[in-house]
Amino acid sequence: MLGVQVAVSSNVFAAALELKQRGGGQIVTLNAEMTMAARANPELGAAIAEADLVIPDGAGVVWALGRQGYRVRRSPGIELARQLLVYAAARQWRVALVGASPEVMERLVERLQAEIPQIDLAFAIHGYQDPEQWPGIEQQLQQARPDLVLVALGVPRQETWIQRLHPEQPGLWMGVGGSFDVWSGTKQRAPEWMGRLQIEWLYRLIQEPSRWRRMLALPAFAWEVLRRG
Ligand code: UDP
Repeated sequence: MLGVQVAVSSNVFAAALELKQRGGGQIVTLNAEMTMAARANPELGAAIAEADLVIPDGAGVVWALGRQGYRVRRSPGIELARQLLVYAAARQWRVALVGASPEVMERLVERLQAEIPQIDLAFAIHGYQDPEQWPGIEQQLQQARPDLVLVALGVPRQETWIQRLHPEQPGLWMGVGGSFDVWSGTKQRAPEWMGRLQIEWLYRLIQEPSRWRRMLALPAFAWEVLRRG
């Protein structure tokens, strides 16, 4: 899609488990905004191109694939990430969480431990560390060799950060955007009916009006898809 390879698997959870068995790798949850950002940011483009599993997270991506004859279901990254957390707890996988504000991370850890009691949180660190702290944090994280690493540092940073750190690592590494904010109860996810109408982006815009400028990427994306036929 617009030069990006997207997995059209009907079961992204199974595809993720299979990737783990093959030795782990990077999972990218692709939406229209990211696709356009990648065209302007070669580092992000490379991280997406080299990812091991790219899943169609946004309605725009599903629509663009549909125009090419691929009927795929939208696979929201937040749902795959949650499924992986539950699976990780059942399998005693070691889980690492990186990103979001200090308050969100604190509430997230409490909530996950209450909601998924078996979870093994080997590493949990917020995303607003002093720049000089990061090299040490990255080293500790790699030494922990987690089985599942969820990273909420925003696009493009989470993707390029994962791309740099995951090689030689056995786990699944996945950028999860605003998922920690939602799981911690700090932000709401759009109601299901909005998801069904493919207007989850509108809900996000109402919650965070400052996103309007970024969202101009959506019509630009649609235009680009139509232009390419
Ligand atoms: N975030 C972070 N450190 C930063 C910037 C963002 O931890 O320097 C977190 C932010 O708190 C949020 C997540 O990254 O939990 C996703 O941010 P946002 O919704 O802006 O990103 P998007 O995925 O939409 O680009």
